[in-house]
Amino acid sequence: MAEKIIGIDLGTTNSEVAVVENGQVTVIDITPGHPILPSFVGLADDGSILVGEPAKNQYVLYPERTIKSIKRQMGSTDRVQLGDATYSPQEISAIILRQLKSIAEAHLGEPVYKAVITVPAYFSDAQRQATREAGEIAGLEVMRIINEPTAAALSYEANHQDHKKVLVYDLGGGTFDVSVVGIQDNVVEVLASHGNNHLGGDDFDARIVAHLVEHLKTQGADPTTSRKALARITRAAEIAKIALSDQPYARIEEEYLLDKAGTPVHLSLELARHDYEAMIHGYIDETLEAVHIALKGANLTVSDIDEVLLVGGATRTPIITERLEADLSLTVRAEVNPDLCVATGAAIQAGMLAGESVRAVLVDITPYTFGTSALSDRNGFAYPYTYVPIIHKNTPIPVTKSEVFYTVIDHQAVVEVDVYQGEDADALNNIALGQFIVENLSKAPAGNPLVIQFSLDVNGIMNVTAREKNTGLEKSIRIDNVLTSFAEGELETARSRVNALFTSEPPLLTKSTAGAPVPTTEHQLTVQAKALVEKAERLIDHAVADDREEMINLIEAINDALIAGDLKALAEPVAALSDILFYLES
Ligand code: AMP
Repeated sequence: MAEKIIGIDLGTTNSEVAVVENGQVTVIDITPGHPILPSFVGLADDGSILVGEPAKNQYVLYPERTIKSIKRQMGSTDRVQLGDATYSPQEISAIILRQLKSIAEAHLGEPVYKAVITVPAYFSDAQRQATREAGEIAGLEVMRIINEPTAAALSYEANHQDHKKVLVYDLGGGTFDVSVVGIQDNVVEVLASHGNNHLGGDDFDARIVAHLVEHLKTQGADPTTSRKALARITRAAEIAKIALSDQPYARIEEEYLLDKAGTPVHLSLELARHDYEAMIHGYIDETLEAVHIALKGANLTVSDIDEVLLVGGATRTPIITERLEADLSLTVRAEVNPDLCVATGAAIQAGMLAGESVRAVLVDITPYTFGTSALSDRNGFAYPYTYVPIIHKNTPIPVTKSEVFYTVIDHQAVVEVDVYQGEDADALNNIALGQFIVENLSKAPAGNPLVIQFSLDVNGIMNVTAREKNTGLEKSIRIDNVLTSFAEGELETARSRVNALFTSEPPLLTKSTAGAPVPTTEHQLTVQAKALVEKAERLIDHAVADDREEMINLIEAINDALIAGDLKALAEPVAALSDILFYLES
């Protein structure tokens, strides 16, 4: 059997090790279920060396005997102090590499002597050489040093023959890089790279910490005077940040945080995703500017790019995908775990060097987008069936995501929650999977928040829950087999949807609190008639000549009735037009 070569992502914040086994990449667990080793080295009370999580845990309390982010010093002549001795950056990195090497050996049940290690595209020769030396000190022959964006691209594109230009957006804990790479036949070339090696998820945490400190100060307590309190707040901030990637609110609770003149001070605060996004807006702007600088550096424009790949844990922040997609008009890919795709690519490269055949990295993803509908502005008027995607296609599963919605009218006691599969901005053009009604909401003014949660597992079972935020009142449904094709049932569903559209008025939710229009029956009729006309105009080219003529007449009749404000005159042409559309669509 060929000698194993391991792939290592030696990161500023975290490191990982992976290997090809039976043609497939395994990212090796550091502790059961956790493949990530924090890039921290420390000395314990008894003088023994700590690597990874235990070193990270003691960092805030004992910074003088803990080293983090050594990668930033690679290639320099700096020495770092650890206990009584000083070390070169290569030696500290070697401690991390040795740990990864022995974890790989335990996993494989054989000694490992060779590795591929990744470095940022911007690393100088001196920094690359220092990385090679660190490997050698750890007892590893470094077969190749490869660029991180190259590795990321390999993890997506291994075995794809076509030529592609790919943008790799990498936002980790403490560094940000964007690279433009060209790929052909498994050869990846970095065309341009730009970034800021002092920007990352840690800065996002710091913004939340500053917010929490301000909040505590308004209560007369100053946590900055206590290292321990600050350590707890920093941890709580990161946990809240991560929670906000999947849900619209995060609760931060830290009891007995401080002591104020003998009275304990507790921290209890809710952070809304919306407010958190405002805190990090400037950072995201900066990364988007870097994207355009990298494109310019590669002499390319946005239209030359085939794909955008996300790398680094901080790219799980949904606003990053939203902003990138809006800015580049491209769908962003994130189906290979963004924490692990650099290590995965390093292992693929290592496998190729060892002469192993490597299959593309397969992960369980949802091939469909799932969402609900809400009243929202569409083409200048409020449309009750505006689609709001909650789980986007290509998201790795299992996944749980939630969003907040608001009631539309005062004392609204009932809402209808519809579940759809599809991509169309008009929910009615998507496939309806199910619906449920939540009753007995509290008598609140319009704008009462409801959190709607979608949970999808690998077996295609979807649980959708709606919870009134202020009371905890909950209702849910379970829908099976949502990952199978719906072609057969589609017709039936479409029929009931179109019928429902013109016979009932669903109790509405809206996506925004500001200025939600209050729907009256007239208002809804008008909205529905306009939506129907819009749809008819879209589909008219698909109709046969006779139908087309009738459609034109009906559209005219509806428009006349709308202009005259004559709602009675709407009923007939609306019913006739919806009949034609129904047959046209089925
Ligand atoms: P990396 O250096 O790639 O391991 O990324 C680490 C950074 O990603 C840290 O700042 C983490 O707090 C952040 N991170 C990890 N998971 C998430 C998440 N679900 N949402 C937002 N940030 C995350």
